[in-house]
Amino acid sequence: VDEIQLNNTQVNNTLDNVIFTQDDTRLNAVIIVLVRNSELHQLRKTMRSFEDRWNKKYNYPYVFLNDQEFTQEFKTMTTALTSAKTYYGLIPEHMWSYPPWIDQNKAAETRREMGFRRILYGDSESYRHMCRFNSGFFFRHELIEKYDYYWRLEPGVEFTCDIEYDTFKFIKENNITYGFTIALLEVSETIPTLWRTIVDFVYKYPQYISDNNFISFITGDEMATYNGCHFWSNFEIGDLNFFRSEKYLNFFDFLDQAGGFYYERWGDAPVHSIALLLFLERSKIHFFNDIGYSHPPFQHCPINTDYHNAGRCFCDPASNFDDQWGSCTNDWIKNY
Ligand code: GDP
Ligand code: MN
Repeated sequence: VDEIQLNNTQVNNTLDNVIFTQDDTRLNAVIIVLVRNSELHQLRKTMRSFEDRWNKKYNYPYVFLNDQEFTQEFKTMTTALTSAKTYYGLIPEHMWSYPPWIDQNKAAETRREMGFRRILYGDSESYRHMCRFNSGFFFRHELIEKYDYYWRLEPGVEFTCDIEYDTFKFIKENNITYGFTIALLEVSETIPTLWRTIVDFVYKYPQYISDNNFISFITGDEMATYNGCHFWSNFEIGDLNFFRSEKYLNFFDFLDQAGGFYYERWGDAPVHSIALLLFLERSKIHFFNDIGYSHPPFQHCPINTDYHNAGRCFCDPASNFDDQWGSCTNDWIKNY
């Protein structure tokens, strides 16, 4: 693993450190960015936004992960954008490759067929490794292992409101495991047998299911069918120990054995969401309604006019996705 820790000597931002760094009160939390070298400039835009709206006040460290070595240019240009510590890690082979039981010819056939049908990323092999990594491995990468909380960041996203509190402390103090900003419907062609596999899992491990779960958010018919709703995982603030639990690890292994990451195109978003909704009490999942967030083509913009009138946000409330077709957020709010 290529781990470097550049100090801020190249960048003249000592003043920021003096004003904002609160090392003594910072939680054991990390910003996780899975990213390719080719996404450097998209990421710089995102980091600028993320630092300005939030992290310059807290200086939570970043871990950048990649299945290939990061370039020196990538490291220099990202480290320059923050006063926080930055670490760069290579993803080990076993976290980004086919497990031995997968028939790679069958997987290739699936990609070809889903490509013909023009299913989003249907023909992509790397996208499948990425979804499997985000489903089963990010929380046990050696640079992530020591942390308790994470915020997932992606190149290209933007934060459109000032966030005036430590979100990690917020989730800790409120006993929250996972927070989201956008919930929406999955492309059903990517997960033909996911739900069937989930039902098999629940039969095998009924003791894992929380008494106070919110599974009714995703199935209206006692688990006969999945409505496709999930938390959009390009934004996540959560407790890493949830994913390291025996329940979740068995859940991931069960899905991994079934092969749907490769024979279909199961995304990490429905995988995370379904596990959270099965295993947790509903109060442990939080909708960050106050965080303005854009991941094209959708954005969450708070509709609370106070935020806008106080100058905290610059997004257009009319562009808020919550009310539009394909969003599940209003179902969440209504039934929560
Ligand atoms: P989308 O949001 O579903 O359209 O997918 P993205 O292209 O945004 O990919 C999701 C995340 O995984 C982003 O943070 C990407 O930078 C990252 N990612 C996707 N594919 C790869 C890859 O092949 N290598 C690396 N290192 N990161 C990837
Ligand atoms: Mn994305």
